[in-house]
Amino acid sequence: MKLFAKNILLATGWAKDQLLTIEQGVIQVITDGSEQQADQVVATVIPGMVNCHSHAFQRAFAGFSEQGSEGKDSFWTWRNVMYQFLEQLSVEDAELIATQLYIEMLKAGYTRVAEFHYLHHDNNGQPYTKLSEMAKALFKASKNSGLGLTMLPVLYQYSGFGQQPPNHGQRRFINSIEQFNQLVSDCAQLAQETPNTNVGIAPHSLRATDKEGINQAVAHVRSIDKQAPIHIHIAEQQKEVDDCIAHYGKRPVQWLLDNITVDKHWCFIHATHIDESELSGMIETGAIAGICPTTEANLGDGIFPTTEFMARQGTIAIGSDSHISVNPVEELRLLEYAQRLIKQQRAILATTATPSVGLNLWQQAAKGGAQSTSSNTGEIAVGKQADLLVLDQAKLNCFATGDKYNLDSLIFASQSNCIKDVMVNGQWVIQDYHHPLEQQSQASFSELLAKLSS
Ligand code: ZN
Repeated sequence: MKLFAKNILLATGWAKDQLLTIEQGVIQVITDGSEQQADQVVATVIPGMVNCHSHAFQRAFAGFSEQGSEGKDSFWTWRNVMYQFLEQLSVEDAELIATQLYIEMLKAGYTRVAEFHYLHHDNNGQPYTKLSEMAKALFKASKNSGLGLTMLPVLYQYSGFGQQPPNHGQRRFINSIEQFNQLVSDCAQLAQETPNTNVGIAPHSLRATDKEGINQAVAHVRSIDKQAPIHIHIAEQQKEVDDCIAHYGKRPVQWLLDNITVDKHWCFIHATHIDESELSGMIETGAIAGICPTTEANLGDGIFPTTEFMARQGTIAIGSDSHISVNPVEELRLLEYAQRLIKQQRAILATTATPSVGLNLWQQAAKGGAQSTSSNTGEIAVGKQADLLVLDQAKLNCFATGDKYNLDSLIFASQSNCIKDVMVNGQWVIQDYHHPLEQQSQASFSELLAKLSS
């Protein structure tokens, strides 16, 4: 197809009156052009956003965990409630929740998700006949919705540092290394059968794995794909850092950098609590900082030193994690605002070359997200997958518009969704704010929520 864009954010910057030739999901040609040459004409186009961190089933739990108990709530009490919640979920429930979530993601401007998937077994903790049964539900949700998927099966071995045995709430997560590597191979097969998907792995955290487990899992997935993404929860909570120091004598990021070979396909999720030397170490390896601003705020995790990391050309990506919010605009806004509140300054996450905070954050997070999923996405350029968002010009016109301001208006000024149409892998999946399955999906999801909360 030939798509004419009046305004488009290319990898090289904003351009006007561009004609894109898209075939087999990929942008083949970009030239100056006219409306008459096109099959379709659109106003303002930006690249789709990659969501680097998702636990899909947690979408159904959002809103159930905001009842206070006299200031005694923390990440750890939240986690206990979450464990109780997931005990009830079946494979069918998981597919239904993920389909609803992925439609929401598309409507908000995400075009791909990295699924940090740890709900592996049935509610007695027994493996399904096929180890990948639960993962398959997420591949189906990707296919149903049209959202690109990077499946990251999670290696979960222990309940705490020092190989502590898993607790009852974790029985659905646990695999031996042999089982886990089989699961990864099965997922690689599912990825071959499902368009626009790929596979990596996620050692859950240093508390839930060990060096031998991580190395064996990495060796296996890299024998399937040399660029397979590897994600890990690393330093989300201060307690996690303290426990790591008590056990290993080192902070988590430092231990990981000293003990495991890390490269640019590694994504450190919640590297929230890092010191100066860990920050330098991350930047030297090219590892990505996977930041989840709304979840980190919701869980009381802390604030990643984004200013210092980006000032040294560190690569960032954003994720919606617990899905308390499903909206890249809100993630990026909070990412900047957290820095402003700490530093008592303004317009921080910008550069001399890109003084617009909104533009800088959107471009950096989309590119970093593409790197974190080893996917051919994140920018609009020849040879890249056609993952595009069309913004609502009428809504944008209510704010500062033009190259310099578009993304600032989108992220900071507009309080309603401006993403009108969404193309993934060359196919329109959202048109005029609607997804073909949204009504049906929403009805099934509401029914499930009523059942789960009764
Ligand atoms: Zn997570």
